[in-house]
Amino acid sequence: MDDDDFLTISGLQHLLFCPRQYALIYIEKQWQENVLTARGRIEHERVDLGYKQCRKGNKQISGLLIRSDRLRLQGKLDVLELDLVDAAAPDNLKQFGLKGQWRIYPVEFKHGEPKNNNCDRVQLCAQAICLEEMLSVTIERAFLFYQRVKRRDEVHLDSALRAETIHATEILHELHNSGKTPPPVYSAKCRSCSMIDICLPKRLSITSSHYRQMLFNPQEPAA
Ligand code: SF4
Repeated sequence: MDDDDFLTISGLQHLLFCPRQYALIYIEKQWQENVLTARGRIEHERVDLGYKQCRKGNKQISGLLIRSDRLRLQGKLDVLELDLVDAAAPDNLKQFGLKGQWRIYPVEFKHGEPKNNNCDRVQLCAQAICLEEMLSVTIERAFLFYQRVKRRDEVHLDSALRAETIHATEILHELHNSGKTPPPVYSAKCRSCSMIDICLPKRLSITSSHYRQMLFNPQEPAA
């Protein structure tokens, strides 16, 4: 499998926020930083140091590179947390030079607040699937830490979230391979979008019904 077949895990979050935002950033390679993304970047730099912190029975590793051949995704973890389950059990994480049996879970840091959609949870689930494939382990839960509200949310990696993640990944590859940027559909979320000045959604926006027609009946003239 060629490295060019692999897409960035964080692209899932952009795709689920807005497919046009994904295309502007990852296909057209345009990027515009606003207050929200600048804050997020600085907070990620703080956890992007590759350090390890240890206390008894618990370790944290940051900046771990991860990858899944199955999803054709790759990226970097904010933090991988490891809890010692049984020191006398056979080693299950020899890759990290650890003795005994350990439970692991990814932790993703977000600068804002919990969102009312699944985009952060899908990104986190994709990270967990990468780790499961790389380390031959099962991961049942993971965590999102929201800086603004200082809240750590546990995310259960159940079958529904895994199916949603796989489906979103398929759409991600389809969109990326098409090389096409979807037209804008102006909505409330545009106000917090880092790409608004490049996207120009108010000026270029099409109606939702027109958009559906372009997707499903491209031959027919617009109403
Ligand atoms: S401004 Fe709106 S339509 Fe444009 S990329 Fe952002 S969210 Fe999507």
